[in-house]
Amino acid sequence: MADDASLRGGVATRPDPIVTVDSSAFWAGADRGELIIQQCGDCTTFYHPPRPMCPKCHTTAMRPVKANGRGTIYSYCIPIHPPSFGFAAPPIVALIDLEEGVRIVSNVVGIEYEKVTNGLKVEVEFEPTEGGHQVPVFRVTTKKKAR
Ligand SMILES: [Zn+2]
Repeated sequence: MADDASLRGGVATRPDPIVTVDSSAFWAGADRGELIIQQCGDCTTFYHPPRPMCPKCHTTAMRPVKANGRGTIYSYCIPIHPPSFGFAAPPIVALIDLEEGVRIVSNVVGIEYEKVTNGLKVEVEFEPTEGGHQVPVFRVTTKKKAR
């Protein structure tokens, strides 16, 4: 984790998450080192980001589920300007398609800018924030394209 751009001299500079009622299970899971997504209690659809109602059947019956943490980079960007607050170097911001079928916005760590590409397989890990919490990020596990 020490190679992440949000660590300056080993000290976390990444901002703390903004926790809402809907996202509290997600962030509590991150603090435990678990990637939590929501699953509908009626139709079993997985969904993310957290929200109060199933996007498919509109029930409010939902349960937090631990995702397996594996996914594929769908797309990415490297925001250069303005500089990203809390990062020593621009982060790789990516859309990750999780194996459960939901898409999550996160950072890809441990890879040079010129080597990141769509279709790479990734796995979740967690990085500290300045206030002692954790946020999920993803590390490339294979250089092979998924499709
Ligand atoms: Zn549903």
